[in-house]
Amino acid sequence: MTTRQHFASDNYAGTCPEALHWFLEANASGHEPAYGDDRWTQKSSDMLRQLFEIDCDVYYVFNGTAANSLALASICQSYQSVICSSIAHIENDECGAPGFFSNGAKLLVAESQSPSAQLGKLSPEALHHVATKRTDLHYTKPRAVSITQATELGTVYSVDEVSALSEVAKRYGLKMHMDGARFANAVAYLGCSAADITWKAGVDVLCFGGTKNGLPVGEAVVFFDRELSKDFAWRAKQAGQLASKMRHISAPWVGMLENDTWLRNARHANAMAQRLYQGLLKIPSVNVMHPPQANGVFANLPAPAIQALHAKGWKFYEFIAGGGCRFMCAWDTTEASVDAFLADITRTLAT
Ligand SMILES: *Cc1c(COP(=O)(O)O)cnc(C)c1O
Repeated sequence: MTTRQHFASDNYAGTCPEALHWFLEANASGHEPAYGDDRWTQKSSDMLRQLFEIDCDVYYVFNGTAANSLALASICQSYQSVICSSIAHIENDECGAPGFFSNGAKLLVAESQSPSAQLGKLSPEALHHVATKRTDLHYTKPRAVSITQATELGTVYSVDEVSALSEVAKRYGLKMHMDGARFANAVAYLGCSAADITWKAGVDVLCFGGTKNGLPVGEAVVFFDRELSKDFAWRAKQAGQLASKMRHISAPWVGMLENDTWLRNARHANAMAQRLYQGLLKIPSVNVMHPPQANGVFANLPAPAIQALHAKGWKFYEFIAGGGCRFMCAWDTTEASVDAFLADITRTLAT
C-alpha cells in the first residue's frame, strides 16, 4: 500500500533503493568488525575522498545536529564563537547543542539577507561587521563562520559567494563550516563539482547530509582541514555518536555515492520543487516568496486555506519562513503527488 506523500520535510521520505541495497549487502556479510573498522566504512570514506578530489578525513554520525555541533566544537574553545545567519539551523533548531558540545561557545547571529535570491544567506558585509564589532576580552572571540548550503530558505550560495565569505573569514582567522544538510540539492542546482563549492572555495569542514536525500540514517562529517579532526573520534564517542554497527550507516553511503545516486536524488527533488513552483504561480491568491533554487518552495497562503489543507490531511510547516508555508520535495516525491497537492490548493482557494 502506498500512502499519501507530504511536503513537510524531505526527511518524511523513506530510504532509496540504492542505499537499501547496500544496507542489506553489508548485513548479508555476516560478522564484520565494529566501530568503523569494517570494509564498508573504508569504502564509502574512500569514495567521499574521490568525490571531493582531496585526502579529507571522514566520520559518520547519526544526525545533522550532532554533525554540526561536534564539527563546531572541534573548531571552538569554550570562550570562542561561531558567526551564522539569523535563520541558521544551528541557531534555531538544535536546542543549543553547538554551545553544549563545545562547553560554551556562543553563536553570534547576523541578520540574513533579504533580497529574494539572497534570502537566508549570510553576506560578507554582515560577516565583517560581526567579526569586528568587539575585540575586547569581555566578549567572545569569533573563531568560526557557519553557512548553510542550501540555506534554510531554499536558496543556494554560488561558488563566488562562498569564496567571498571565506576571504573575510581568513582575514580574521575564522574557520569555515558548512551545514550541508541539503548539500546534494545545492550541488545539483549549481552544476559544479563537490570540490568547487567546498574546500576550493575555502570550506574547512562540511557536514554532508544524507538522511534527507535518501539514506536511512547518518550524516558524514568531512574535514578538509585535517588539523581540526585530530580528536574527533573521541569527541564523537563521548557524545554518543559512535555507532558500533557502523557498517549500517556507512554501507548505504556507498549506494548513495555509486553512480551519483546522491545527485540524481537531489536533481529529482529540485525538479519536483520547480514543478510545484510553476503550479503555484498559476494560483492567483498564492504568493510565492521567491523562485526555488533547491528542493523547497516558500509561499504565503491565506490562513483559512492553510487550515483547510491541513484538514484535508496535507502536512507542511508554517513556522520556518516567518509565517510563510514551506513545501519540501524529497527524492521520491512524484509528479502525481505535486499535482494532487496543487489541485487541492486550487480547490481550497476557490471555496
Ligand atoms: C535537517 C537539517 C539538519 C539536521 O537535522 P537533524 O534533525 O539533527 O538531523 C541540519 N541543518 C539543516 C539546515 C537542516 O535542514
